[in-house]
Amino acid sequence: MRLLLVEDDAMIGESVHLGLTQDGYAVDWVKDGQTADAALDSEPYDLLLLDLGLPSKDGLQVLRGLRARQKDLPVLILTARDAVADRVAGLDAGADDYLVKPFDLDELAARIRALLRRRAGRAEPLMRHGALSLNPARHEVTLDGVPLRLSAREQSVLLALLERPGLPLSRAQLEQRIYSWKDDVDSNAVEVHIFSLRRKLGAEWIQNLRGVGYLVPRTPPR
Ligand code: CA
Repeated sequence: MRLLLVEDDAMIGESVHLGLTQDGYAVDWVKDGQTADAALDSEPYDLLLLDLGLPSKDGLQVLRGLRARQKDLPVLILTARDAVADRVAGLDAGADDYLVKPFDLDELAARIRALLRRRAGRAEPLMRHGALSLNPARHEVTLDGVPLRLSAREQSVLLALLERPGLPLSRAQLEQRIYSWKDDVDSNAVEVHIFSLRRKLGAEWIQNLRGVGYLVPRTPPR
């Protein structure tokens, strides 16, 4: 999952960036509103974490511009402004949720998972597809009830594919979903993760459509 963090406070930014990266997200961190606009136009983010008080362009302006461009990605506002009016303005401008600083990283992570679930049209925390289940909160994947040992990147690839069984994602789309700008990406990194996933799950779980991409079959293999 690829997140954009917009936060000009170095300490908060660093702790959120570190915490979410350790949680397996690919996080790009920018520190002002105009850079946020540029990033939002160039990368396919799954979620936006947005501070309101920002240099160059206010968070509310970024949010209004985003919704005006009909971008429907989930937006969680992170703000020190505890005035009710600011929170109302943020929600009315199209934010999906907010956290008032200082906040707990565990709560932030749980709210992110809830927003991503809703975006994928799921209410329950566990993703299931036939005998396969993935729990994003606990980083657990089981097949026929047996836990599998997957790396964080392998889980990210699997999660992206499980969000839309039957629909392929290209190598470039998977790269954009699981790596941030900071990551040094080998040209065959996605293939390596796919190879490893097929070895651990069974090759039938991930199909390769030549020249198109990879998919989890719509009908689960078992
Ligand atoms: Ca700020």
